[in-house]
Amino acid sequence: MQPRTPPCTAPAESQTPTDVLVVGGGIIGLVTAWRSAQRGLSVAVVDPEPGGGAAQVAAGMLAAVTELHHGEQTLLALNLESARRYPDFAAELAAASGREVGDLGYRACGTLAVALDSDDRAHLRELHALQRRSGLESEWLSGRECRRLEPMLAPGVRGGLRVDGDHQIDPRRLTAALLVACERADVIFHRAWAERLSVVRDRARGVVLGDGTELHAGQVVLAAAASAGASRASPRPSCRPSGR
Ligand SMILES: Cc1cc2nc3c(=O)[nH]c(=O)nc-3n(C[C@H](O)[C@H](O)[C@H](O)COP(=O)(O)OP(=O)(O)OC[C@H]3O[C@@H](n4cnc5c(N)ncnc54)[C@H](O)[C@@H]3O)c2cc1C
Repeated sequence: MQPRTPPCTAPAESQTPTDVLVVGGGIIGLVTAWRSAQRGLSVAVVDPEPGGGAAQVAAGMLAAVTELHHGEQTLLALNLESARRYPDFAAELAAASGREVGDLGYRACGTLAVALDSDDRAHLRELHALQRRSGLESEWLSGRECRRLEPMLAPGVRGGLRVDGDHQIDPRRLTAALLVACERADVIFHRAWAERLSVVRDRARGVVLGDGTELHAGQVVLAAAASAGASRASPRPSCRPSGR
């Protein structure tokens, strides 16, 4: 499912300032915009293609336990709490975007990570031990047990880890729903690149678009993700006085 294209505000030299200006309309930017608008704030999002970004290629694993890494205990606590809240979040977003929760592709079906060779097996065994030390629930399965769960697996699978608590979402459907929820909450979309930040007395006050339009806001949220470091997609600070 392709994300819906939200209505675009016409470029203007001076836009009415909003309470919040979000740079980047990927999952993080759209959720931030939607939640801010729900709290009664006026919100604008700047992105040439809101709803695009990494969500268009991501797998949508909500895998706090399967993707555990050494030294990430603090992150683990955050990930587990996020996973615990996900069903309510999905239900609320579905309602706000006029969908059924199943339309978001949210599935609480568990995760199976399989080992294709002995290196994979050793890695998953180590992960299993770390999960147990961390008090997490996961189960080691033989290759045969894995294939019983998923008959399409290759005959040579050497074993695997089953984590019932790790779920999944369809990131394309998620962003499509977020776009509608934002639209319904009166979030304004500027379909353009933010070329640079407007900084006044060490505080981000807005951004300047490619056509020179200046957008001002009480709070500027940078949610441009990985592309924030790349060429024109990186809003560079500019210390020239802003018009506000
Ligand atoms: C192949 C792949 C698989 C993944 N699988 C998983 C998974 O299974 N589970 C999981 O949890 N995560 C997964 N992820 C990670 C997850 O998709 C990302 O962490 C998440 O989508 C990032 O969202 P975001 O909003 O931070 O950034 P993005 O989706 O990158 O969005 C950033 C947005 O900012 C915009 N932007 C950038 N610069 C500017 C600018 N100057 N002006 C205006 N707009 C700008 C871009 O156009 C883009 O729309 C995967 C990622 C990839 C690439």
